[in-house]
Amino acid sequence: MYAVAARIQGAEVIEQPLRREDAWALDEARVLAAARAARAPRLLFLCSPNNPTGNRLDSAAILRLARTLEGRALVVVDEAYVEFSQAPSLADQVGDTAGLVVLRTLSKAHGLAGARCGVAIAQAEVIALLRKVIQPYAIPQLTIEAVRAALTPEARARTAERIAILSAERSRLAERLAALPGVRRVWPSEANFLLVEFDDAGAALSRAHRARLLVRDLRANRMLGEALRITVGSPEQNDRLLASLEAPA
Ligand SMILES: *Cc1c(COP(=O)(O)O)cnc(C)c1O
Repeated sequence: MYAVAARIQGAEVIEQPLRREDAWALDEARVLAAARAARAPRLLFLCSPNNPTGNRLDSAAILRLARTLEGRALVVVDEAYVEFSQAPSLADQVGDTAGLVVLRTLSKAHGLAGARCGVAIAQAEVIALLRKVIQPYAIPQLTIEAVRAALTPEARARTAERIAILSAERSRLAERLAALPGVRRVWPSEANFLLVEFDDAGAALSRAHRARLLVRDLRANRMLGEALRITVGSPEQNDRLLASLEAPA
């Protein structure tokens, strides 16, 4: 969507792949070289933990990029999945890093995808620019009420509990999937999903569908190979997924 939004603005989009051979690490040198070669780089979007690979990008590398490009381009880090990681948000670094913008959302860990509420965390100068272009009354009252209800201490405690269950289920699911004969690789994840490569992703997809489970088909992306993105569900849903993949053909 960042690429779509940029093109609508008439901006040029330059994409730089992550390093598959290095567990999808950020290619810091390549990103920096591309930013330096660009005529007028403005925004670098990084997603950490990344969708759909699930890995977190190296914080030190992100901060180096933001500091090196300061004054020329902003480094925008999308942390939609950060609550599912043990690592802290980069929001704490914004005070010391003028070129860093951190995006957070209530759509994932807080279960409020339909409320359309997120936040940009940046130094005052950047926020002042955003204020100039934000629509008046940008946040509907019903969203505000839903958000307030989701952020009470009781609701936050329930969210923390759900996250703890999810991360235990993520380990269990990853281990069980990795032991299945048709599974080539389960990539390490710090998000609420697993990127899984199969011998035959189409067959796995049909099995999941027959068990009434929707998983994301990623075969259109050549770098990912025969891959599906499997969201970690409830323990019952995860068992159902495993059973569907384990059943004889
Ligand atoms: C889900 C998701 C979001 C959240 O978007 P909202 O507009 O806040 O719902 C942002 N970035 C990524 C990469 C996501 O997967």
